[in-house]
Amino acid sequence: MGELKYPVYQPNLNGNEKKYVNECLDSTWISGKGKFIDKFENDFAKYIGVNHATGVCNGTVALHLALEALGIGEGDEVIVPTLTYVASVNAITYTGAKPVFVDSLESTWQLDPEDVITKITSKTKAVLCVHLYGHPCEMKSLVVICEKHGLFLVEDCAEAIGSRYDGEHVGVFGDVATFSFYGNKTITTGEGGMVTTNDETLYERIIHLKGQGLAKYREYWHDAIGYNYRMTNICAAIGLAQLERINTIIEDKIEIANWYREEFKESNFEFHTETENVVHSYWMCTILLPVEIDRRELKEYLLNNGIETRPMFYPVHTMPIYAQKYEKHRVAEYLARRGINLPSYPGLTQTDIQKIVHSLFSYQTLKNGQ
Ligand SMILES: *Cc1c(COP(=O)(O)O)cnc(C)c1O
Repeated sequence: MGELKYPVYQPNLNGNEKKYVNECLDSTWISGKGKFIDKFENDFAKYIGVNHATGVCNGTVALHLALEALGIGEGDEVIVPTLTYVASVNAITYTGAKPVFVDSLESTWQLDPEDVITKITSKTKAVLCVHLYGHPCEMKSLVVICEKHGLFLVEDCAEAIGSRYDGEHVGVFGDVATFSFYGNKTITTGEGGMVTTNDETLYERIIHLKGQGLAKYREYWHDAIGYNYRMTNICAAIGLAQLERINTIIEDKIEIANWYREEFKESNFEFHTETENVVHSYWMCTILLPVEIDRRELKEYLLNNGIETRPMFYPVHTMPIYAQKYEKHRVAEYLARRGINLPSYPGLTQTDIQKIVHSLFSYQTLKNGQ
């Protein structure tokens, strides 16, 4: 194996991250309270365009809190795309509710609103939509469906900070939205997450559950079984420094995506496209390989050339932990078999992208020549 020149991701921490973290250390405010938490939450809410944002320790617990604050639990069903990161589904399971899988659209790779309708039962309480790889879901249809059937709409925006639908940032369309700041996400805090909502009552419930169910009216008195899902001041310090530079980070990512698109234009590698009314933030630049290409062999070839890639998420309904009964989701399975994520971190230059794509093409030529 050659030296790894191009990892799939690496965060850019060249702003005020170090300065703010040092401020935490110097002031001894390193735990779940502090000025960076308040500032990060306020600035984050402003950036998204929502009334409330509260920081948590990762994107998975953000989802768990959102669902539990909505009162979802045992006996309920939550509709979720099978083509997602497993955390979206696990969070439903934590509450005792049952995840009900839906297929994806071939065009945008997002959950299929038509399939959502066919999966609604008397037990359905919510639709959990995931803006996969940074492309927004079909929000207009989902909002109408949820209103008509009296369902909550939860947006998993872990991969979609900076993404817009009809001019508005994703996360404002549903009842509640969640974000992740894991090291490979568009902005990072190391480990971290955020829950956002416009609903004051829901916000209060989230805060309550996040901090051990602490009663408002008496110290050390707990009137619900809550959790410790707090974000630390150190994480918030990193997050704030990242948020200060979010516009350049997103611009860089979109530029990288445009370079990839340009390189793949005349080829039979399909680059993730975007619909007219959206801003795709391209968390991970992803392509579908031509059917004749062996993905595993290609990944190995690229790795030998210093290029790391990842397979697209495996549809969750195919994993033994969730495959209790036979299910088929044709589009999700087709996309997942052929999809790979390419190096997508800000800092990549046009020459880097050309080198990466050139390696892909040279593998294809090699195979065609055999
Ligand atoms: C990353 C991610 C999460 C979970 O976030 P963590 O911070 O890793 O817990 C949830 N959903 C999706 C779609 C993600 O990509």
